[in-house]
Amino acid sequence: KINSPLEAYKYLPQTNCGECGQPTCMAFASTLIDRSGKTTDCPPLIKEKKFAKKLAELDRLLAPEIRQVTIGVGERAANIGGDDVLYRHKLTFFNKTKMFFDVADNMDEAAIVERVKKISDYKKFYVGRNLLLDGVAIRAASNDPAKFATAVKKVIENTELPVILCSFNPAVLKAGLEVAKGKNPLLYAANKDNWKEVGELALEYNVPVVVSAFNDLDGLKTLAKTFAEAGIKDIVLDPGTYPTGKGLKDTFTNFLKIRRAGIMGDTEIAYPIMAMPLTAWMAGIADPVSASYWETVLSSIFTIRYGDIMLLHSMEPYATMPEVHLAETIYTDPRSPVAVDSKMYKVGNPTADSPVLFTTNFALTYYTVESDLASNGIDCWLLAVNTDGIGVEAAAAGGQLTADKVKDAFEKSGFDLKSDVTHNSVVIPGLAARLQGDIEDKLNVKVMVGPMDSGRLPGWMEKNWPP
Ligand code: SF4
Repeated sequence: KINSPLEAYKYLPQTNCGECGQPTCMAFASTLIDRSGKTTDCPPLIKEKKFAKKLAELDRLLAPEIRQVTIGVGERAANIGGDDVLYRHKLTFFNKTKMFFDVADNMDEAAIVERVKKISDYKKFYVGRNLLLDGVAIRAASNDPAKFATAVKKVIENTELPVILCSFNPAVLKAGLEVAKGKNPLLYAANKDNWKEVGELALEYNVPVVVSAFNDLDGLKTLAKTFAEAGIKDIVLDPGTYPTGKGLKDTFTNFLKIRRAGIMGDTEIAYPIMAMPLTAWMAGIADPVSASYWETVLSSIFTIRYGDIMLLHSMEPYATMPEVHLAETIYTDPRSPVAVDSKMYKVGNPTADSPVLFTTNFALTYYTVESDLASNGIDCWLLAVNTDGIGVEAAAAGGQLTADKVKDAFEKSGFDLKSDVTHNSVVIPGLAARLQGDIEDKLNVKVMVGPMDSGRLPGWMEKNWPP
């Protein structure tokens, strides 16, 4: 396994031709290590026959410890797995946990279409991006091939999202595969009873497949090994998800054991893992709100600990919102803070009399301040100062937020406090109060110290604005 640019560099053409968009082969090697680049981005390496052996070896050495599996096709295809570490801070986690929501083939067609559209259209705006749901799991509740095929057809006619075909009956899976040809669905699942037939289907249709052995890691490993030896590469592991009690503890331990073994080099089990928070609905919880709540708890546990793909049921906002937020947070790359562009933003419809504020370009800070202002109807100018994506308090203490940086940000934004507004004043965050004097000196403006928490800006404005 290759871990440094210098090691990757040995396999590159070393001509510094620049065709990859990088100034040197060494710079390109760095992109291979942090996975922002791929070997296919180097044309000479791909095209020239003399490099074929090096290319194959480099691809092998760069492959992640946990196999990456793709479900579906096109822009919304879901990549799962692909991790190299047990702990996020050691590198980063790749490929956010994918959330698939179920439909059953015994629902009537209108209900299927309505639910599929709800899954496809789900969108939650969060720090500058839309959080989405990832796919549809079609359950063969009828166990009837014809009925299942009809449901699969309805689903794929109404969404571009990838699908999982769920049945232990190979005849049912085959009927679904015929309808979903070319869509690269995930087959769920092969177990100790049907593995031969399901394995043949995975090979025949060339699709990824789940191997399932409930709370039986040896059985799971044997199935995965058998499939790998048969030439099936894209395997997902389902060790079973107990919804409560000691069983849940066993499930959690199984997830840890599988991922630890995979990262430590046991290639026979180095595949993405599937969790099933929807088993919360089978835990004997009568009240749907409590079942949704418990499903979210299970989802959180397995987002944090190695669930690469999940089957879920509840689409209530109080269930989906924490689920998608947590996955987004855990899979944010800790090496690069989420930041917005450093520039002057308009909140609402500001005029020359409107207040001017600044905050840092850390996305979470910026969007919190922006939303506190916008949702309270405060029209204003809001400057995002480049602090390398660090929040106000830490940046003011660490030297990333200084009077010079604020001055620089105003100059770069082209906003002139003398001519673009009438009041020649700026409201600074309460957490940066210590910069008041410096900013007054550097910018030659009146500096007003705002509240410590942007949630208090509306009350503060009422008392202090206009200056
Ligand atoms: Fe080096 Fe390949 Fe990039 Fe050319 S395209 S600079 S050979 S890495």
